[in-house]
Amino acid sequence: MAIPPYLQDKKMNSRKRFPGRVLFNLIFILSLGLNIYLLNNPENPALNIASETWEVPSAEAKTTENFTETELDEPPAQEILARATPSPVTVGSMEPVLKPAPETGNINGQPHVTPVSYVVTQTGNPQGKAILRLNIRNSLTYTLCQAMTKEQGCQTMSAYLSRLLSWNFDINKSMRNGDSLDVVYEHVEGKDLFRILKMVYKSQLFNKVYEANYYSGDEEGWGAYFDAVGVEIAQSIEEKFAPLKKYQEITSLPGDFRKGPVGHKGTDFKTDIGTPVYATFEAKVLRTHWNVRVNGYCVELDHPREGVKTLYLHLSRVLVKPGQYVKQGEKIAETGNTGRTYAPHLHYEIKSRDDKKIVYNPFNLKHIKTYYKKVPLEERETFQKTVNLYDSILQKG
Ligand SMILES: [Zn+2]
Repeated sequence: MAIPPYLQDKKMNSRKRFPGRVLFNLIFILSLGLNIYLLNNPENPALNIASETWEVPSAEAKTTENFTETELDEPPAQEILARATPSPVTVGSMEPVLKPAPETGNINGQPHVTPVSYVVTQTGNPQGKAILRLNIRNSLTYTLCQAMTKEQGCQTMSAYLSRLLSWNFDINKSMRNGDSLDVVYEHVEGKDLFRILKMVYKSQLFNKVYEANYYSGDEEGWGAYFDAVGVEIAQSIEEKFAPLKKYQEITSLPGDFRKGPVGHKGTDFKTDIGTPVYATFEAKVLRTHWNVRVNGYCVELDHPREGVKTLYLHLSRVLVKPGQYVKQGEKIAETGNTGRTYAPHLHYEIKSRDDKKIVYNPFNLKHIKTYYKKVPLEERETFQKTVNLYDSILQKG
């Protein structure tokens, strides 16, 4: 009658385990089923968020693949133009969809959406200039690509304009549907396609008009953009801290989203090969010529006092050696077009000594002094005539 203890134990154990295991299996199967259902259900809000976050144009997706820790510089020519970033914090979405303008009026209680208005490009006026008159809708690129085709270079035009605008505000956050944009431009030979001569942007958010006028003075091709009273749109680094004393323009700032998931790490200065490069602060040379295939000839300096390191890439000549001490403003190299680049330029990068993931915008770093250049007094009259010419072209259009 007595059940042997070993059998008793077994029976009890199995009875104890039985409900737990069934319950576990049941939950497992249920959750598996739920997961399969959610993954296949397009209505799932969680999935919609995910797809919005990761919806990236294929061209950009390609650049993220190649993004290396050291530096991914210079995408193809068309993309070099397509680079402009307002701030180093820009991450993620490429072409944000704009929210409606603050208030554009109601018609019979129906929300009234400002239609996009385009004035078509006029070529062949006496000066050979063309104009665009647009109202922003969705995004800058979207708006421009409604007014002109891709073959005509709408993306390039968008890149130029966003680069200009990014000195004024964050183009990813501050544009509104219905903002107006007037542009005077001319066609130029080669891959640059255009030169923007004048841009007038009316922002509803800031209730302000931003204006940029191209002015080159005597040096053809070395012009810059100035507001109506002759103050440059872009900032400059004070000479004491400047890696270059002369350059044509800044083509990319840190955080540029087109350069990878975390954005471009440096500031790109377009300049001729052989332009002298100077140390931003007193430094010890950390290394030269690492990852030459991508970076080209390059130098990294260590600045313990400021807590940063500076990097100089795509050089044609390097004049310093690892371990060497250099003074602030000492010539350390010459610019070039080595490594992965598509045009001569200096990639200048400032990063934290402590955390290599932190990079700084030179125009925000407290150790670097910056300023706005102005049209020289003796050239004000010529400048004003240039602005008047642009205005008359816009008025006629
Ligand atoms: Zn760069």
